[in-house]
Amino acid sequence: MIFLKLLFFGAAFFFGFRIVKPWLSKHISIHISNGDKEEIEDVMVKDPCCETYFPKRDGVYAHISGQDFYFCSKECRDKYLEKLK
Ligand SMILES: [Zn+2]
Repeated sequence: MIFLKLLFFGAAFFFGFRIVKPWLSKHISIHISNGDKEEIEDVMVKDPCCETYFPKRDGVYAHISGQDFYFCSKECRDKYLEKLK
């Protein structure tokens, strides 16, 4: 019977944790996402077409075959897409 009691408390702890965890991560993620946003705006990325560095926030975003790319201009994005064909 001691085993069953332990199992019960184990399950109660497990499910209790599962309820608390999303609540915690929800509150923690607010701080993390704010930090990430600032980081993304400040970071310099390389244009894969003309190999120029520019701030990510000024870039032209493209999602190509499961990867994220940032280009300095729409012209570069179109050129890069043409190259891939
Ligand atoms: Zn470019």
